[in-house]
Amino acid sequence: MPRDPRFDILFQPVKIGPKVVRNRFFQVPHASGMTNAAPHVRAAFRETKAEGGWAVVSTGACSIHPTSDDSPFPCATLWDEADLRSHALMTEAAHRHGALAAIELWHGGAAAVNRTTRHAPLSPSGIPWMATHVGFMSSARPKVMDAQDIRDLIRWHAEAAVMAERAGFDILYVYAGMGYLPYQFLLSDYNHRTDDYGGSVRNRVRLVEQLIDAVREATHGRCAVALRISMQELRARPSDIAPSEAHEVIGHLKDAPDLFDVKMDYSATDCAASRYTPEGSHEPVVDFLKTITDKPVVGVGRFTSPDTMVSMVKRGVLDLIGGARPSIADPFLPKKIEEGRVEDIRECIGCNLCISSWHDGVWVRCTQNPTAGEEWRRGWHPEIVRRDGKGQVLVVGAGPAGLEAALTLARRGHDVALADKARDFGGRLRWESRLPGLNQWHRVVDYRMGQLQKMPNVTLYPESDLSAQDVRDFGADHTVIATGARWLPYLCGANELPSGPIDAPRVYTPDDIAAGLVPEGPVAVFDYDNYYLGSAIAEHLAGQGRVVTYITTADTAAAWGFMTNEQPLVHQSFAKKNIALRTSEVVTGFDGETLLLSQIFSGEDRRIAARSLVIVGYRQGGSALYDSISGDAKPGSLHLTGDANAPGAIVHAVYQGHKTARELGLPLAQTQPRRDAPFAPRDFHLPEATE
Ligand code: ADP
Ligand code: SF4
Repeated sequence: MPRDPRFDILFQPVKIGPKVVRNRFFQVPHASGMTNAAPHVRAAFRETKAEGGWAVVSTGACSIHPTSDDSPFPCATLWDEADLRSHALMTEAAHRHGALAAIELWHGGAAAVNRTTRHAPLSPSGIPWMATHVGFMSSARPKVMDAQDIRDLIRWHAEAAVMAERAGFDILYVYAGMGYLPYQFLLSDYNHRTDDYGGSVRNRVRLVEQLIDAVREATHGRCAVALRISMQELRARPSDIAPSEAHEVIGHLKDAPDLFDVKMDYSATDCAASRYTPEGSHEPVVDFLKTITDKPVVGVGRFTSPDTMVSMVKRGVLDLIGGARPSIADPFLPKKIEEGRVEDIRECIGCNLCISSWHDGVWVRCTQNPTAGEEWRRGWHPEIVRRDGKGQVLVVGAGPAGLEAALTLARRGHDVALADKARDFGGRLRWESRLPGLNQWHRVVDYRMGQLQKMPNVTLYPESDLSAQDVRDFGADHTVIATGARWLPYLCGANELPSGPIDAPRVYTPDDIAAGLVPEGPVAVFDYDNYYLGSAIAEHLAGQGRVVTYITTADTAAAWGFMTNEQPLVHQSFAKKNIALRTSEVVTGFDGETLLLSQIFSGEDRRIAARSLVIVGYRQGGSALYDSISGDAKPGSLHLTGDANAPGAIVHAVYQGHKTARELGLPLAQTQPRRDAPFAPRDFHLPEATE
């Protein structure tokens, strides 16, 4: 189909300094967890986006010097020659598809405490980042940079710029955002200097200006220079001569870079979870840039709707549509708009499992796109599946795993029958996506159902509760069981292990609430799963007018939600909804009137009044259906996948479903992943820089 003319504006080229980008789709720098240790994995991850139509693909933060060492978080480096080959692999891949390659030159300053290199962290005035999450905390405090340190920092940027150009990058970023070193100079909380780099906004901007100049001069104006800058705090600060310090800063810098990349200051607001934050949430903070500068502006906001993108351009908010998460969830988003296939876009659901990968120190994972990070290792393409499927496959269970398995098997060319006992497909998402803030998660179902309904080799069987005999009678060549897991009413011991079932009136699991049971208030929600569901159920029950107390074994609500940037917002939401929060406690007993609790560390007994108890803790997989068929199934014809195989978050169910479908019928040798390895310094043979 031809593209809709109302989206033409998105395909106009844009000039960025000495470079021209072919359209307005710009994959901005984002954490991928892929360091120089996995150069082929990283290059293929970004190449896929270039192939999918993004005009620019960018690295994540790339450290320019050992004084900016973020370990144990995964961090790319551009420290010396040994790093070039690894980056060149990515730039060559981007160029093969007509995209430009950008690199985010990064110095973390006080936020990078150099755990491995053991340099003293650098900062404008010795002000540390007093992180409260244990992963970021440190006992090291930064030194105050002297004049030589500032000269060194400028020189490191220039040296990194020269290397970046040699590695093939077209756009070089100076990064003054998210609490990192140049940002620390901009913000008065960090910058108490009394020299030319501190005090007035004019002085605080000086370093950023000098870094931009240094990068441009080092590459003789051949590369475009982008400034990535966080505006949230600056915009909130008054200025004597402008509407805010942000306006004043941009006023000073308006002609300095070739491109502004604008963003928020904190991960939780910058990469905000859809549970609490809508698409386009940065706009009120970054909407003023284009009233001050003539340079192009790129920004993000989890844009997946082409109409929203057009509106951002037409209303003069942005020139380029930045994508981080939307480009992970669907690397082919631009191509799909270009080819008039908007309904085929696999829209990001805003769950932030991708950012959790960085917090975990591993390659990016995505709930919507199970191929993310597996492009090279397993050879998985997000759009193309080898059409080698023969015979019929019955998939039992149409939750995230079954839907993904069915879709991938159908793409392989199998005849697919997908059955679910429910009338509506979607499994756990049928109900979970109706919990407060989770409606966009239903996109996991919408995308897959949209695709399956178009495929002639797929038959859908709703309201089909299949028994073992039904499966045998169906007689498919292969059967995939994706019937999900169940929550158990188990308590948890102070040793953090599920301790066994509780026998008491009015005890519920998430499955009971999903089935429509409404607990009497006051309700206690005991959460030792510690991801989203316990807190979402607490919010749901509070929304039904119940008095709710949320109790957790952890020291914060939704403790693992820190990994997905949800956790601070869960606390805000609890405060708004009057949900009482109790931490570091286990439930030890309940009689339908009184709940017994024990403080985990002191063992002190406590009691509160409650009429109902909802336990969100232990989830068990397995499938009686699978067990009863497995005895007489032909070898290699029966497969257990998703939560029924190993319960987990939706990301794991989708991944398992995809893997089962990709590997079904293949010999083991064809399913072995490749192992990546870093380049050694001797592998580097790129031409010398030209003057
Ligand atoms: P996953 O996350 O692994 O996809 P879900 O719990 O989301 O698992 O989905 C499992 C689906 O399987 C549910 O929609 C459920 O209705 C369906 N199901 C369970 N048992 C059967 C069965 N015997 N026949 C058909 N569908 C089933
Ligand atoms: Fe979007 Fe979730 Fe995928 Fe991240 S993991 S890109 S938030 S769908």
